Amino acid sequence: MTDKEKTELYSNKIKLELSIKLSSAEYMLWINPLVPHTVSGSRMTFIAPSENAANTLKNHYGETFESVARAADIPVDEFSFITKEQLDKLELSELGESEEKKEEARKNPFVAKYTFDNFVIADNNRFASVAAQTVAQNPGSNDNLTLNPLYIYGGVGLGKTHLLHAIGNYLFENNPNMDVIYTTAEKISNDYFASLNQYTTDKDSYRNFRKKYAQCDVLMVDDIQFMQKKGGLQEVFFHIFNDLYINGKQIVLSSDRPPKEINDIEDRLRSRFESGIMTDISAPSLDTRVNIIKKKLSVSNHTLDEDVIYFLAEKINTNIRELEGALLKVIMFCNLTHRKPTIEIAKEALKEKEKEFTEQIDSDKIINYVSEYYRIPATEIIGKKKTKDVVEARMVAIYLVCDMINLPLVSIGQIFGGRDHTTVIYSRDKIASQIAANKAVAKAVEDIRSSIKCG
Ligand code: ADP
Ligand code: MG
Repeated sequence: MTDKEKTELYSNKIKLELSIKLSSAEYMLWINPLVPHTVSGSRMTFIAPSENAANTLKNHYGETFESVARAADIPVDEFSFITKEQLDKLELSELGESEEKKEEARKNPFVAKYTFDNFVIADNNRFASVAAQTVAQNPGSNDNLTLNPLYIYGGVGLGKTHLLHAIGNYLFENNPNMDVIYTTAEKISNDYFASLNQYTTDKDSYRNFRKKYAQCDVLMVDDIQFMQKKGGLQEVFFHIFNDLYINGKQIVLSSDRPPKEINDIEDRLRSRFESGIMTDISAPSLDTRVNIIKKKLSVSNHTLDEDVIYFLAEKINTNIRELEGALLKVIMFCNLTHRKPTIEIAKEALKEKEKEFTEQIDSDKIINYVSEYYRIPATEIIGKKKTKDVVEARMVAIYLVCDMINLPLVSIGQIFGGRDHTTVIYSRDKIASQIAANKAVAKAVEDIRSSIKCG
């Protein structure tokens, strides 16, 4: 793929994601007119139609671009918006200097704002953040035998990825010569299968893959629950893990659940994951949510009245990513309309979000997320199979469809392979009572719900 093709491809993917994520007015106003210019290292530049547009995008949409890029697995974490005139000037006069800057941006692969300083420590994450800091200050097993591996787990949007990047940023600052890798289970899988595919033309491809991961100083793998049990990947990862461990290199893993709840994993790998420290991040309290909003405001140089902050923190009570989304929306709206943020405006912003969100969700989407979570094909979820795990996944899917979409029970029965509406009622009520009685079920349902909302 040429650079130009890559730039086009990234741009198309990002625009597509944004068209789903933003309201259509916002999309048409800010995103549609953008022309992709270049991808250089981890920075992507778009040409904006005016200076005003470039500034708005920079100040209010940067984070949205970054999160969309992360979600779409596009290796870009910095976005620049520039007008054609500015670009011409830059290319003429400052080429040397800007190249240098780009060089620097390329070297730090971690998201700049995901630092320990920007992370609010509270009861729900205290142990995980202290463990992460300890690991960052002293990676490897020498003094902290038990902190290797460090395994952080918890629901969607609670700060796992933030902590992993914070370790990376800290090491980048304090230990610049260390080879620190941040990756996701999905990326490492892709890398592995690509190395196998290239083997016919490049005999070193597999060896290089092994070397890259087994010879680094710190290996962080995010969302380890997605590591596939196929093609020998887990076996290879087991060996990489051992190589690192024996050589006193640090391993950090994150997941949405503890190792014993990941179904699709070899036992020996599971016991490796459990052999260091496992620590969970749970849902933040109201006070913590308030503090997180205040932190985000101070980092981005914005202010909001206390009552608006409390309103948002009360309304969105689990996922911090959603909380940030709502906050951004309120600030953006007030900036664009030159109004002072009030509870009324916050209410409007949330209402709009809720509306967009219900418009986007359909039963397929819910079934797909349930399928991903339980690692059971969607066809089985709507099919006839009656094994325990399939039945559980099916009932959870039915519960979520009933809860999240306004559809007649008969139609829901149709969606689930032509089942009777009494079956729908039975499943819905059964899961509802399990949620009340069983923490694990409640958490599974909430995690899936959060992923649906974020995805
Ligand atoms: P996860 O990986 O657990 O799904 P992320 O690390 O992506 O979640 O966090 C989602 C968003 O919430 C990020 O923007 C992150 O900065 C923010 N966040 C979560 N917890 C905190 C916290 N304790 N302090 C500050 N920001 C937080
Ligand atoms: Mg994450």
